[in-house]
Order: sequence, then C-alpha cells, then structure tokens
Amino acid sequence: MTITHRLHHCLRSHDMVARLGGDEFTVLIEKIGAPAEATQVAERILDTLCKPFSLKGYTLFPSASIGIVIGSHSYQSATDLLRDADLAMYKAKSTGRACYALFTTDLHTRIYKVLQIESDLRRALEQQEFILHYQPIVSLSTGKLIGFEALLRWQHPQDGFIPPYEFIEISEETGFIIPLGEWVLREACRQLHTWHQAFPEQADLIVSVNLSSKQLREPRLIEQIDCILAETGLAGRFLKLELTESMLVDDVQTIIQTLVNIRAREIQLSIDDFGTGYSSLSYLPRFPINTIKIDRSFVSRMTSDTENLEIVRAITMLAQSIDIEVIAEGVETLEQLLQLKTIGCEFGQGYWFSKPLDSLSIQQTILAQTQWPLSETLGTQSSLLLG
Ligand code: C2E
Ligand code: MG
Ligand code: MG
Repeated sequence: MTITHRLHHCLRSHDMVARLGGDEFTVLIEKIGAPAEATQVAERILDTLCKPFSLKGYTLFPSASIGIVIGSHSYQSATDLLRDADLAMYKAKSTGRACYALFTTDLHTRIYKVLQIESDLRRALEQQEFILHYQPIVSLSTGKLIGFEALLRWQHPQDGFIPPYEFIEISEETGFIIPLGEWVLREACRQLHTWHQAFPEQADLIVSVNLSSKQLREPRLIEQIDCILAETGLAGRFLKLELTESMLVDDVQTIIQTLVNIRAREIQLSIDDFGTGYSSLSYLPRFPINTIKIDRSFVSRMTSDTENLEIVRAITMLAQSIDIEVIAEGVETLEQLLQLKTIGCEFGQGYWFSKPLDSLSIQQTILAQTQWPLSETLGTQSSLLLG
C-alpha cells in the first residue's frame, strides 16, 4: 500500500501504475518528449521509494531496480515491450541496489549473444568438445614432478581452440559452470587414476582442479564429489581444489562448513592467484587451506623489481609460518626459479617447466621423465628434462 501510494506520488494523474505480482510494478508514462524525461521519473521514484518507512514497529529500508523501455512503432505487442523492460531491469539489478537502466539494442544484442553462447556451450558438452590440458607442478627443492593443474579447453569445430577466459565467465553467469565443472572434476579424477595405474612409480601425483564460486555454493557439490571419487576410484588425498580469495568473502560460515566437509574427505584446498584479491593473510587461518598459489603478476615482476621480490618473500614466509604450502605461478625464467629457491618457496608452476599439455603429450614427455634440472649450469630450457 505504502509503495503504491509513493509511486502515485511520483507520477502525473494520467500515468498508469500496475502491480505485476510479488514485488514487481509497471508504470506506463505516455506522451514523453525525450528519454531524459523517463529517466527523471525513474530518479524521482528511486528517491521517494527508497525512503525508510515503518511497518508493525520495524523500520524498513526499501530499494528498487528500474528497467526503462521507450515505446516505438517497431513494437508489435505489449508483451515485447514488457520483455525488454524486464531485460533492462535485470541489467539495473546487476549494477547494484537502487539503480535504473534504459533498454538499448546493445543490451538486446548482448543478451542474445549470451543465450547463443550458452546454447553453444551446452551442445559442446554433449558433443564432447571440451578437453583438459595438464600443467606440471614441480618441487623447487628436488626438481620432481608433484602433480598437475587441470586446465579446461574448448575445441570448437569451426572456431578452433577457445581458451577458458572466453567462456568461463559466461558459464558462471548462466549457471552452465555447474554441469561443466562437474565434467572437469570427473575427467581430471579419471585421468589421474589412469596415470596412477599406468605409472605405478608416479602413484603419488595429485591433480588440482579450479572450482568456480557458483560450484562452491552449489548444495550438491559434496555429493557430486563423493560420486566422482567413487566412480573414478581416485582417493580424495590425490585431489586438490583451487579457490580464489574473492570466494571466501560472503556467507563465511557456510563456506567454512563446505570446506571442512571437503577436507574431511582428505581433499586438499588451495587459494589460486593469491595476492590479487584481498591480499591479506590474516583471514587464512580461519579457513582449512593447505596451499596458496602466488599470482603470476608478482612472480613475473620479481626479478626486475625488488618490491615484488619482497612481497613474494613475505607471502612465502608468512604462509609457511602457519603451515601453508606455497606454489609460485607463472615461473618463466631460470632467474625467477633461482630466486624462488633462495626465498624458500617450495613449489613452482610455469612455462619454464612446461606449458599445459594434452594428456597424450603428458604421457609421452612428462610422465616418462619426471625431474627438472634446477641449477644454473644445467641450462635454461624446460626441454632439458633429466631422466
Ligand atoms: P589459473 O587457474 O590461475 O591457471 C593458470 C593460468 O596461467 C593458465 O591459463 C595457464 O596456462 C597460465 N600459465 C601457466 N604458466 C604460465 C606462465 O609461465 N606464463 C604465462 N603467461 N601463463 C602461464 P589458462 O589455461 O588460460 O586458464 C586461465 C584461467 O581460466 C585459470 O587461471 C582459471 O582461473 C580458469 N580456468 C581454467 N580451467 C578452468 C576450469 O576447469 N574451471 C574453472 N572454473 N576455471 C578454469
Ligand atoms: Mg588455477
Ligand atoms: Mg592462478
């Protein structure tokens, strides 16, 4: 009642307000000269609506997201007009609280594109167009292979190889990451178990799988993991899940409970791209984390810039002091490798050791010879694998 009253207060007497259901209202403003007139009304509505009011002794602070569409002759029906107002409203919602957004053809194109990509992705999963590449993770004290990170690739029949940054975000947005992430987990566990059996002397290798924020919040995650481990025969201790700092911010208690459930299966947990998010080690002891991966941006600037070197050193020392292992990401040069060794960083991953490779190449090159030279005299190429 209060909301309707406030809405009327912002409009002219011949404008129309209708409640579509729940907390959705539609306002029809006729005879406007320019879009700016509509946005002025939206601002007025936000101003008025968002003022606190009392209900049954409580003070409420309402908020609203407004989608605006300007009618034109190209619209055939009221339903189309409402659909576009709805799209604009979702855009406003995604921008933040108390916002309005104007429908544009760009928005239509973008949403159409997202839907198109989503249906492409679903087809790709059915047609088995996704594959995993594996990048070695190496002990910097012994030069020995300790495991791999599984990295997703899309082999599109027309467009060729598509890297993850082109489809992971959209998969998150649309929720497709749930079935896709489940496929990644299953495939990585299946592959590692096969390698353990084929190379018994390598039966302690582990595989790291990137988990997205949606997956971590998916109530069925633990059930899915249990199923995958049972199906593939891989023991939990050989699996590591990579999270990012930003995933540990909201709803902390629920996240901690999920992480504790994961750890109860001896699955390890790693913080990926460390230093790019909250950059604070103080929150780490609250979470049952085994490893942090220092982001490539620090490692790549380490040799030219002493500040970065000190950051890497400080992160390594602090993490080790609370029993957390450290992996340096993006190790590309021997100089970086030697500095990391001096600092005492235990593990490294990067092009210096190997680029991510398909499973056959891993079998033929990496699993046949699993030790890297780590001293200056032994050369500067990752191709110099020691037998
Ligand atoms: P990430 O998890 O931090 O993975 C490391 C990325 O750095 C990989 O890129 C890898 O190819 C690249 N990289 C490794 N060593 C070097 C190096 O020495 N130099 C340089 N310049 N790059 C190096 P990639 O494979 O393109 O993956 C990018 C990101 O996509 C990943 O970052 C991860 O966040 C995401 N991603 C990949 N696979 C999956 C997946 O299965 N699920 C989810 N949710 N995300 C994934
Ligand atoms: Mg990762
Ligand atoms: Mg990373």
